Amino acid sequence: MNEIPPEVFAEYEALNARVEGFQVRVRERYPGQIECRAGCSECCRRIPRLILSPVEAFYLREQLRQLPPEEQARLREASRTAMPPCPILTDDACRLHRNRPLLCRTYGYPTLSPELLTIGEPALNYCYKNFTGLTGPNTLDPDCVMNVDRATQELWEINARFVRERWGVAFDRSMAFTVQEVLQGVLDKWSPAGSRRVAGAGGSGGGGAGNSRP
Ligand code: SF4
Repeated sequence: MNEIPPEVFAEYEALNARVEGFQVRVRERYPGQIECRAGCSECCRRIPRLILSPVEAFYLREQLRQLPPEEQARLREASRTAMPPCPILTDDACRLHRNRPLLCRTYGYPTLSPELLTIGEPALNYCYKNFTGLTGPNTLDPDCVMNVDRATQELWEINARFVRERWGVAFDRSMAFTVQEVLQGVLDKWSPAGSRRVAGAGGSGGGGAGNSRP
């Protein structure tokens, strides 16, 4: 059943906590400029796919297991329908908001990808509902813009240790799962030997494995 002791997720939880700290900093620096809050589920309603790296996926599975059985069954049923919206969205709120995936935490807040910048792609991202009172993106305090490439790199390193310590093999970025697969119990019997590529997995720039922003 691929049981994972809770302490294995300490590094991943620490990364999530740092992202949370960054968001507190942004809200304090720009009071009234951030619309991301309970009751706004636009990201979850528009996200075309949610692909999770192994540590994110197994962590999500552990959070799902703590829900009452009838609720787990309801989410599993919701996962049979294509996204959007995300099957975990319930009554306009994430049912696992406190423990939502890293990617979901970064939505809406300012992120910058130096890697995208080098190939001339739009590198700065934030929700169009935020910072409407500012004159332009260049006015943002650099301390309030998350380097998403660095966060992604850190996530890959955590995954490398997670996969090596659990299964004794090297992490491969094609080891990735859709949120629907997590809900449908795919992880219980997963092994790296039988791993296959999720379309689009392995890219950077989203804090997760090959997701696209809504
Ligand atoms: S996991 Fe939660 S926060 Fe992430 S897209 Fe789904 S409902 Fe939204």
